[in-house]
Amino acid sequence: FSVPTPVNEPVKSYKPGSPEKEAVLQAYETLWNNPIDVPLYIGSQRIKTGTTRKMTAPHDHQHVVGTYHLAERSHVEAAIDAALHAKAQWENLAWEQRAAIFLKAAELIAGPYRAKINAATMIAQSKNIFQAEIDAACELIDFLRYNVAFMTQIYADQPKSDSGVWNRVEYRPLEGFVYAITPFNFTAIAANLPASAALMGNTVVWKPSDSQVFSAKVILDVFQEAGVPDGVINVVFGDAQMISETIFNHADFAGVHFTGSTHVFKDIWNTIGTNIYKYKTYPRIVGETGGKDFIVAHPSANVKQVVAGIIRGAFEFQGQKCSAASRAYLPKSLWPAINDLLGKELATLKMGSPQDFSNFITAVIHEGSFDKLVSYIEKARTATDAEIIYGGTYDKSVGYFIAPTVILTTNPKYETMETELFGPVITLYLYDDAEWNNMLHLVDTTSEYALTGAIFSSDRYAIAEATTALKNSAGNFYINDKPTGAVVGMQPFGGARASGTNDKAGSAMNLLRWVSARTIKETF
Ligand code: GLU
Repeated sequence: FSVPTPVNEPVKSYKPGSPEKEAVLQAYETLWNNPIDVPLYIGSQRIKTGTTRKMTAPHDHQHVVGTYHLAERSHVEAAIDAALHAKAQWENLAWEQRAAIFLKAAELIAGPYRAKINAATMIAQSKNIFQAEIDAACELIDFLRYNVAFMTQIYADQPKSDSGVWNRVEYRPLEGFVYAITPFNFTAIAANLPASAALMGNTVVWKPSDSQVFSAKVILDVFQEAGVPDGVINVVFGDAQMISETIFNHADFAGVHFTGSTHVFKDIWNTIGTNIYKYKTYPRIVGETGGKDFIVAHPSANVKQVVAGIIRGAFEFQGQKCSAASRAYLPKSLWPAINDLLGKELATLKMGSPQDFSNFITAVIHEGSFDKLVSYIEKARTATDAEIIYGGTYDKSVGYFIAPTVILTTNPKYETMETELFGPVITLYLYDDAEWNNMLHLVDTTSEYALTGAIFSSDRYAIAEATTALKNSAGNFYINDKPTGAVVGMQPFGGARASGTNDKAGSAMNLLRWVSARTIKETF
């Protein structure tokens, strides 16, 4: 099982005058001025249904960068047929061949497609270049490279044999097809959900988020150039309800790889349960959903680290991460120092178009998200148990801009301590230093989610107490660092409770969900 040793793709600096900066700005310019038209991908066909939706830039919502075609039920059925048709040849291909395709995809993104996939992510998902580079280039490359290594780990895991008996396990793909439903917020996740299942020998129907079609098109170009055969990854856009209903009604539906909201995932689970007698096999249900991710500072915490954790954890990526810090528990003794530094740091952050590389924060994804965030900000403005201490301003005249917003509450169960907002808003609660243990209990019991969390402290006993008390409160737990930015191959990512099935992305644990093993005992 020899494969190239995976290495994490180094993050490029995009310094003024650097070739990577020139290249990405040029790609941005080209994509901005040349609208594209994205068809459905069904087997070898590229179908333009004629019913289209526009793609715009969240930071300049009147600017149309392209259109994409919407599927009807018959297209979804055709996509399923194409996946089933392609299955036999794909699963019988030697694993080295599948690995080679996805390793080539990684190299194409690392090289010739890097500027384009970053620019597409900057334009239609409104990420600044550093966010795009970490997501659409590095994390995506890492997923593709590491998954190949994880696959060989799985294949190498074999049972004991005995004299005259050879036991072996064959890691077959699932019987049927896999459905990938992907979010807008990470280009890497969008590509990884179909690609990881396909790497393990499955064929896929992929439904990207409406807000991510632009970069999905670049992913599809890369996959095609890397040699993913027609029918292995089929793509449909449009009415999620109709697409899912068609898929979940099919006898050959074998698994869903999902990242998105908790309520959609629970509905999916419910629908699959209702349809269970229709299926040939028990479908795999793998989902990463919401988060209400916490920062806890102990009185022994380093104030600089806490403030960096709040700012980077809550506001990078416009807070549009499942892992984003959105509630923080700070000791009253440290509050004056934290508040002072937080105010100073926030005053330095610039907001605006991703085309200007000095902007830390850009626009949120769409009007629905903007309006929802504004409604929580306005509620906090008039609440008796909360106040907005930083930010709270917004403007959607050109793009969906919301300033990094900090709410301070006296109520540890205040609505925004519990509810996921998915935007650049964090709520702080100050606790009495002596209430440390009660506060940990509060952290554990306030939200239904358990995705990420961070503890800041220089006291080993406090770190140990928090690590134990919050054992079930987060799938990814950070000590003295922000609760975001899991790196493939280093911090396998995923949460429990309402945050998902915790089948860690970026690990063999996830890939194992896309195989169904056969044990073979051969007697001589
Ligand atoms: N893996 C990302 C992180 O560690 C978050 C992914 C997500 O938002 O779904 O920050």
